[in-house]
Amino acid sequence: MNDYIKSLTGLTDNLITFDPRVAEDDRLKIISANPTARHPFARQEHCELYLRQSYPNACPVCGQLMRKNGFKTVYLRGLEINGRPLVLVIAKQKYLCPVSVECPTLVTDLARVQGINVNHQIMPNVQQRMLLALTEIHSVKDIANQLHVSQTTVYRQMSQLKRHFRPKRHWLPEVLALDDFKAGRFATSGMSMALMNGKTHELIDVIESRTNTCLRNYFYRYEYAVRANVKLIVVDLYQPYRSLIRDLFPNAAIVADRYHVVVQAYQALNHVRTQTMKALPSKDKLARALKRYWRLLVKDAAKLNWHDFKRRTGFGGAQLNEREVIDRLTATSDALSPA
Ligand SMILES: [Zn+2]
Repeated sequence: MNDYIKSLTGLTDNLITFDPRVAEDDRLKIISANPTARHPFARQEHCELYLRQSYPNACPVCGQLMRKNGFKTVYLRGLEINGRPLVLVIAKQKYLCPVSVECPTLVTDLARVQGINVNHQIMPNVQQRMLLALTEIHSVKDIANQLHVSQTTVYRQMSQLKRHFRPKRHWLPEVLALDDFKAGRFATSGMSMALMNGKTHELIDVIESRTNTCLRNYFYRYEYAVRANVKLIVVDLYQPYRSLIRDLFPNAAIVADRYHVVVQAYQALNHVRTQTMKALPSKDKLARALKRYWRLLVKDAAKLNWHDFKRRTGFGGAQLNEREVIDRLTATSDALSPA
């Protein structure tokens, strides 16, 4: 699809083109207000953008290529251009499949535009603006004025938008990410939990408190089959969650997110190192080396220096590179040596 159309309208369909019947200079046209027009948006000054949607279409009954049968014009309200509301005038291809042996009744169809519901007269990005405006305290009149739609439209959208506020209870993603965060003044508990689709990183919902009871009550609202469908849960290593997750999501593997894994691995390694040190006499050269070279032990193996041989304290004056220091340190203890 033309990038110009994309940026102007927010459409994502790659097949849509300018309407070839409209001259290039007239593709985006300012239309003056017509107080007697049927469409409410035509009663005010607006911009019209002329588009066409047509593609080869297979008959849903017999599977053969359908015959093209003229166009149907639909109107979609888009965002504004230079303060004027934008109206997308889309010529949608009409199709028909004539009666044949394989197709006993006449089948008709209409070209679709990706991301646009057939019954909608408003572009999704206008809806999103409305949703955003509705989350703040604005009067319906303000929103209607800002987005160049009637107040009735805002009210109608409000009822449609309700479903955006109410997450679906019959669906959870295969990969579910749980992330706790400080909710500040929005929650009494202090810590809240964000529920995200682990693949798309879309926010699904926010659970006000991350207490066990609260999480359990929350997830029990989803049917068992829905919870059983979750394959992977990404969570930090906050221990209480783990048994809860096993109860609630019978088929899910728990994956600790990377940051938390690194922190825990680091802590575990440090613990082993200090235990090894404590097991040695305090004046022992190796004990002091373990203390001195702790940074090397946690260094990324790929970043270790293999080239510079230096005199290292604690190894009897041997000239060693970083890798050798680590080998000698880990050789002091079974727990420290790589598995
Ligand atoms: Zn057919």
